[in-house]
Amino acid sequence: MRKLHRSIYKSPAQLKLMLEPNRITALALAEAKKAAVAGTSLLELDAIAEQTIRDMGAEPNFMLEPGYRHTICANVNDVVVHGVPTDYVLQPGDIISIDCGAIYKGWNGDSAVTVVVPDPDRPELQQQREALSYHTEQSMWHGIASLARTQYLNQVGADIEKYIVENSKYSIVQEYIGHGIGRSMHEDPPVYNYAVARKGPEVKPGLVVAIEPIIAAGRNDTTVDASDGWTVRMADGQDSCQWEHSVAVHKDGIWVLTAADGGAAGLKPFGITPTPIA
Ligand code: MG
Ligand code: MG
Repeated sequence: MRKLHRSIYKSPAQLKLMLEPNRITALALAEAKKAAVAGTSLLELDAIAEQTIRDMGAEPNFMLEPGYRHTICANVNDVVVHGVPTDYVLQPGDIISIDCGAIYKGWNGDSAVTVVVPDPDRPELQQQREALSYHTEQSMWHGIASLARTQYLNQVGADIEKYIVENSKYSIVQEYIGHGIGRSMHEDPPVYNYAVARKGPEVKPGLVVAIEPIIAAGRNDTTVDASDGWTVRMADGQDSCQWEHSVAVHKDGIWVLTAADGGAAGLKPFGITPTPIA
Protein backbone atom coordinates (compact mmCIF):
# COMPACT_ATOMS: atom_id res chain seq x y z
CA MET A 1 0.00 0.00 0.00
CA ARG A 2 1.12 3.51 -0.72
CA LYS A 3 1.36 5.59 2.40
CA LEU A 4 -0.52 8.83 1.80
CA HIS A 5 0.49 10.78 4.85
CA ARG A 6 3.84 11.25 6.48
CA SER A 7 3.75 10.58 10.21
CA ILE A 8 3.76 13.67 12.40
CA TYR A 9 6.23 11.86 14.67
CA LYS A 10 9.91 12.00 13.74
CA SER A 11 12.36 9.19 14.41
CA PRO A 12 15.22 9.76 16.91
CA ALA A 13 17.62 10.14 13.97
CA GLN A 14 15.35 12.74 12.36
CA LEU A 15 15.11 14.69 15.61
CA LYS A 16 18.89 14.98 15.62
CA LEU A 17 18.81 16.38 12.09
CA MET A 18 16.49 19.13 13.30
CA LEU A 19 19.03 20.49 15.80
CA GLU A 20 21.25 22.31 13.29
CA PRO A 21 18.67 24.25 11.20
CA ASN A 22 17.04 25.44 14.40
CA ARG A 23 20.36 26.38 16.00
CA ILE A 24 21.23 28.37 12.87
CA THR A 25 17.81 30.06 12.93
CA ALA A 26 18.41 31.09 16.55
CA LEU A 27 21.84 32.52 15.66
CA ALA A 28 20.38 34.53 12.77
CA LEU A 29 17.70 35.93 15.05
CA ALA A 30 20.23 36.78 17.74
CA GLU A 31 22.24 38.77 15.18
CA ALA A 32 19.15 40.51 13.80
CA LYS A 33 17.99 41.31 17.34
CA LYS A 34 21.34 42.92 18.17
CA ALA A 35 21.02 45.11 15.08
CA ALA A 36 17.41 46.12 15.75
CA VAL A 37 18.15 49.62 17.03
CA ALA A 38 16.96 53.07 15.97
CA GLY A 39 18.43 53.91 12.56
CA THR A 40 18.64 50.36 11.18
CA SER A 41 16.46 49.56 8.18
CA LEU A 42 14.37 46.42 7.84
CA LEU A 43 16.36 45.44 4.74
CA GLU A 44 19.57 45.69 6.78
CA LEU A 45 18.12 43.31 9.37
CA ASP A 46 17.13 40.98 6.55
CA ALA A 47 20.67 41.05 5.12
CA ILE A 48 22.22 40.33 8.53
CA ALA A 49 19.96 37.32 9.09
CA GLU A 50 20.59 36.03 5.56
CA GLN A 51 24.38 36.36 5.91
CA THR A 52 24.36 34.54 9.26
CA ILE A 53 22.37 31.65 7.78
CA ARG A 54 24.53 31.39 4.65
CA ASP A 55 27.76 31.60 6.68
CA MET A 56 26.60 28.44 8.48
CA GLY A 57 26.10 26.63 5.18
CA ALA A 58 22.31 26.81 5.41
CA GLU A 59 19.65 28.57 3.35
CA PRO A 60 16.87 30.97 4.34
CA ASN A 61 13.69 28.88 4.05
CA PHE A 62 11.25 31.81 3.80
CA MET A 63 12.68 32.39 0.31
CA LEU A 64 11.39 28.96 -0.67
CA GLU A 65 7.81 30.16 -0.16
CA PRO A 66 6.41 31.03 -3.61
CA GLY A 67 6.71 34.77 -4.26
CA TYR A 68 8.66 35.63 -1.08
CA ARG A 69 12.16 37.00 -1.58
CA HIS A 70 13.41 37.65 1.94
CA THR A 71 15.01 35.89 4.90
CA ILE A 72 12.88 37.46 7.62
CA CYS A 73 9.46 38.87 8.13
CA ALA A 74 9.76 42.21 9.91
CA ASN A 75 6.53 43.02 11.70
CA VAL A 76 6.58 46.58 13.02
CA ASN A 77 3.92 48.02 15.35
CA ASP A 78 0.46 47.22 13.88
CA VAL A 79 1.90 44.69 11.40
CA VAL A 80 0.87 41.22 12.52
CA VAL A 81 2.71 38.81 10.21
CA HIS A 82 4.34 38.58 6.76
CA GLY A 83 5.83 42.07 7.06
CA VAL A 84 8.02 42.41 3.98
CA PRO A 85 11.40 44.03 4.78
CA THR A 86 11.65 47.49 3.23
CA ASP A 87 13.95 50.50 3.57
CA TYR A 88 11.85 51.61 6.56
CA VAL A 89 14.25 52.73 9.29
CA LEU A 90 13.49 51.69 12.88
CA GLN A 91 12.38 54.57 15.10
CA PRO A 92 12.63 54.95 18.88
CA GLY A 93 9.60 53.27 20.46
CA ASP A 94 8.93 50.83 17.59
CA ILE A 95 7.94 47.29 18.52
CA ILE A 96 9.28 44.84 15.95
CA SER A 97 8.68 41.10 15.78
CA ILE A 98 11.27 39.35 13.63
CA ASP A 99 10.33 35.96 12.21
CA CYS A 100 13.06 33.85 10.60
CA GLY A 101 13.85 30.35 9.43
CA ALA A 102 16.64 28.27 7.95
CA ILE A 103 16.83 24.99 6.08
CA TYR A 104 19.88 22.75 6.51
CA LYS A 105 20.32 19.34 4.89
CA GLY A 106 16.61 19.30 4.09
CA TRP A 107 15.35 20.07 7.62
CA ASN A 108 13.77 23.31 8.80
CA GLY A 109 14.04 25.78 11.65
CA ASP A 110 11.52 28.51 12.56
CA SER A 111 11.47 31.08 15.35
CA ALA A 112 10.46 34.67 16.12
CA VAL A 113 11.54 37.27 18.67
CA THR A 114 10.32 40.75 19.54
CA VAL A 115 12.34 43.88 20.27
CA VAL A 116 11.11 47.23 21.59
CA VAL A 117 13.42 50.03 20.43
CA PRO A 118 14.15 52.25 23.47
CA ASP A 119 12.44 55.65 23.42
CA PRO A 120 13.70 58.00 26.15
CA ASP A 121 11.15 60.64 25.08
CA ARG A 122 8.14 58.35 25.38
CA PRO A 123 8.70 56.11 28.41
CA GLU A 124 4.99 55.28 28.64
CA LEU A 125 4.81 54.02 25.08
CA GLN A 126 7.99 52.01 25.56
CA GLN A 127 6.62 50.49 28.75
CA GLN A 128 3.29 49.59 27.10
CA ARG A 129 5.02 47.87 24.25
CA GLU A 130 7.46 46.07 26.54
CA ALA A 131 4.48 44.77 28.51
CA LEU A 132 2.88 43.46 25.30
CA SER A 133 6.13 41.71 24.37
CA TYR A 134 6.59 40.31 27.89
CA HIS A 135 3.09 38.83 28.07
CA THR A 136 3.32 37.44 24.54
CA GLU A 137 6.61 35.74 25.36
CA GLN A 138 5.22 34.44 28.64
CA SER A 139 2.16 33.05 26.86
CA MET A 140 4.54 31.18 24.56
CA TRP A 141 6.44 29.73 27.53
CA HIS A 142 3.13 28.68 29.09
CA GLY A 143 2.39 26.88 25.82
CA ILE A 144 5.81 25.21 25.81
CA ALA A 145 5.42 24.18 29.46
CA SER A 146 2.02 22.79 28.54
CA LEU A 147 3.59 20.71 25.75
CA ALA A 148 6.00 19.23 28.31
CA ARG A 149 3.14 18.04 30.50
CA THR A 150 0.07 17.39 28.40
CA GLN A 151 -1.04 14.15 26.81
CA TYR A 152 -2.83 15.87 23.90
CA LEU A 153 -1.53 18.78 21.83
CA ASN A 154 -4.51 21.15 21.91
CA GLN A 155 -4.01 21.73 25.62
CA VAL A 156 -1.14 24.02 24.52
CA GLY A 157 -3.59 26.53 23.03
CA ALA A 158 -5.89 26.29 26.02
CA ASP A 159 -2.98 27.18 28.32
CA ILE A 160 -1.83 30.07 26.10
CA GLU A 161 -5.36 31.48 26.17
CA LYS A 162 -5.69 30.97 29.92
CA TYR A 163 -2.47 32.94 30.50
CA ILE A 164 -3.55 35.86 28.28
CA VAL A 165 -7.06 36.05 29.77
CA GLU A 166 -5.79 35.90 33.34
CA ASN A 167 -2.89 38.34 32.91
CA SER A 168 -3.94 40.98 30.38
CA LYS A 169 -6.65 42.76 28.45
CA TYR A 170 -5.08 41.71 25.15
CA SER A 171 -6.69 39.50 22.52
CA ILE A 172 -5.32 36.52 20.61
CA VAL A 173 -5.09 36.72 16.82
CA GLN A 174 -6.94 33.63 15.59
CA GLU A 175 -6.10 33.37 11.88
CA TYR A 176 -2.40 32.56 12.30
CA ILE A 177 -1.39 29.54 14.31
CA GLY A 178 1.59 27.30 15.01
CA HIS A 179 2.42 24.11 13.14
CA GLY A 180 4.43 20.96 12.91
CA ILE A 181 7.88 21.42 11.41
CA GLY A 182 10.34 19.04 9.76
CA ARG A 183 11.19 18.51 6.11
CA SER A 184 8.67 21.30 5.45
CA MET A 185 8.59 24.51 7.43
CA HIS A 186 4.83 24.21 7.81
CA GLU A 187 3.35 20.76 8.27
CA ASP A 188 0.76 18.95 10.38
CA PRO A 189 -0.37 19.20 13.07
CA PRO A 190 -1.87 22.69 13.58
CA VAL A 191 -0.94 24.24 16.93
CA TYR A 192 -3.69 26.55 18.11
CA ASN A 193 -3.05 29.56 20.32
CA TYR A 194 -6.46 29.24 21.97
CA ALA A 195 -8.80 26.57 23.27
CA VAL A 196 -10.53 24.39 20.68
CA ALA A 197 -13.06 21.58 21.12
CA ARG A 198 -10.88 18.74 19.79
CA LYS A 199 -8.08 17.42 21.96
CA GLY A 200 -5.63 17.08 19.06
CA PRO A 201 -2.92 14.48 18.43
CA GLU A 202 -1.09 12.67 21.18
CA VAL A 203 2.02 14.37 22.51
CA LYS A 204 4.74 11.72 22.38
CA PRO A 205 8.38 11.36 21.32
CA GLY A 206 9.00 12.55 17.79
CA LEU A 207 6.52 15.44 17.81
CA VAL A 208 8.15 18.72 16.73
CA VAL A 209 6.04 21.88 16.71
CA ALA A 210 6.43 25.62 16.33
CA ILE A 211 4.54 27.38 19.13
CA GLU A 212 3.91 30.98 18.08
CA PRO A 213 1.21 33.03 19.76
CA ILE A 214 0.33 36.38 18.20
CA ILE A 215 -1.15 38.77 20.72
CA ALA A 216 -3.00 42.02 19.90
CA ALA A 217 -3.10 45.04 22.18
CA GLY A 218 -6.62 45.81 20.93
CA ARG A 219 -9.18 43.83 18.94
CA ASN A 220 -8.01 40.73 17.07
CA ASP A 221 -9.35 41.49 13.54
CA THR A 222 -6.67 41.67 10.83
CA THR A 223 -6.48 42.94 7.26
CA VAL A 224 -4.03 42.34 4.37
CA ASP A 225 -2.26 45.36 2.81
CA ALA A 226 -3.50 45.88 -0.73
CA SER A 227 -0.14 47.46 -1.67
CA ASP A 228 1.92 44.24 -1.51
CA GLY A 229 -0.64 41.49 -0.92
CA TRP A 230 1.53 40.11 1.94
CA THR A 231 1.64 42.42 4.92
CA VAL A 232 -1.04 41.66 7.51
CA ARG A 233 -2.05 44.49 9.86
CA MET A 234 -4.33 44.86 12.86
CA ALA A 235 -7.61 46.28 11.57
CA ASP A 236 -7.78 48.73 14.49
CA GLY A 237 -4.21 49.95 13.94
CA GLN A 238 -3.11 48.93 17.43
CA ASP A 239 0.05 46.97 18.21
CA SER A 240 0.57 43.26 17.85
CA CYS A 241 3.41 41.03 18.92
CA GLN A 242 4.71 37.54 18.28
CA TRP A 243 7.19 35.15 19.84
CA GLU A 244 7.94 31.70 18.45
CA HIS A 245 10.03 28.66 19.28
CA SER A 246 10.31 25.28 17.60
CA VAL A 247 10.16 22.55 20.23
CA ALA A 248 10.90 18.82 20.07
CA VAL A 249 9.35 16.13 22.24
CA HIS A 250 11.74 13.18 22.60
CA LYS A 251 12.11 10.10 24.73
CA ASP A 252 13.90 11.93 27.55
CA GLY A 253 11.73 15.06 27.67
CA ILE A 254 11.45 18.25 25.63
CA TRP A 255 14.07 20.49 24.04
CA VAL A 256 13.45 23.98 22.68
CA LEU A 257 15.37 23.72 19.41
CA THR A 258 15.55 27.48 18.78
CA ALA A 259 16.68 28.49 22.29
CA ALA A 260 20.43 28.54 22.95
CA ASP A 261 19.80 26.91 26.37
CA GLY A 262 17.13 24.49 25.12
CA GLY A 263 14.53 26.56 26.98
CA ALA A 264 16.08 26.17 30.46
CA ALA A 265 15.57 29.80 31.51
CA GLY A 266 12.05 30.12 30.11
CA LEU A 267 10.88 26.84 31.62
CA LYS A 268 12.53 27.25 35.02
CA PRO A 269 9.51 29.03 36.59
CA PHE A 270 7.43 25.95 35.70
CA GLY A 271 9.85 23.54 37.37
CA ILE A 272 10.62 21.99 33.97
CA THR A 273 14.18 21.15 32.94
CA PRO A 274 14.67 20.61 29.20
CA THR A 275 16.72 17.57 28.21
CA PRO A 276 19.17 17.67 25.29
CA ILE A 277 18.47 15.29 22.41
CA ALA A 278 21.15 12.63 22.82
MG1 MG B 1 8.07 31.76 12.12
MG1 MG C 1 6.14 29.29 12.34
